[in-house]
Amino acid sequence: MTDKPVQATKHCRHYDYKNTPGSGDYGPSCALGFDLTAPGAWRRCAPDPDIGCASRSDYTDEERAAWSAYRANRLAMIPVALAAFKEHIGPGEAKSADCPHCAGMLTVARASNGHAWLICSNRECVGPVHFNIDRRTAWPPLNTESEPTS
Ligand SMILES: [Zn+2]
Repeated sequence: MTDKPVQATKHCRHYDYKNTPGSGDYGPSCALGFDLTAPGAWRRCAPDPDIGCASRSDYTDEERAAWSAYRANRLAMIPVALAAFKEHIGPGEAKSADCPHCAGMLTVARASNGHAWLICSNRECVGPVHFNIDRRTAWPPLNTESEPTS
């Protein structure tokens, strides 16, 4: 597994968005301490800002390329992990399988309301990944080897 590069978005590198409701630490923030709580104040930090900020610092193209490659690699791990499951997992079920990416154990849990989660026991590996799967859908797709028909 590769080391996680800096999350080089198109926002200013000082920008962050806390997303823990009820923690009292919620919403946009600036590492330099600019107050972003006023309506629209965060726009100074956004891609293509329409409000000037003399302290803005954008990620470099190299940082963005490293982050993009990392994300693509992480996304490609998901279907490989799901292919480790050899049976469909019905609503209300959870199953485990050996992780094809590490020595950990994968778990898929599927709720009856359509929510499903995939995670590896190795925190540096796959997940947690959330899916919305219609309860009538046979899931995950099984990796069946098909013979030529003619
Ligand atoms: Zn793993």
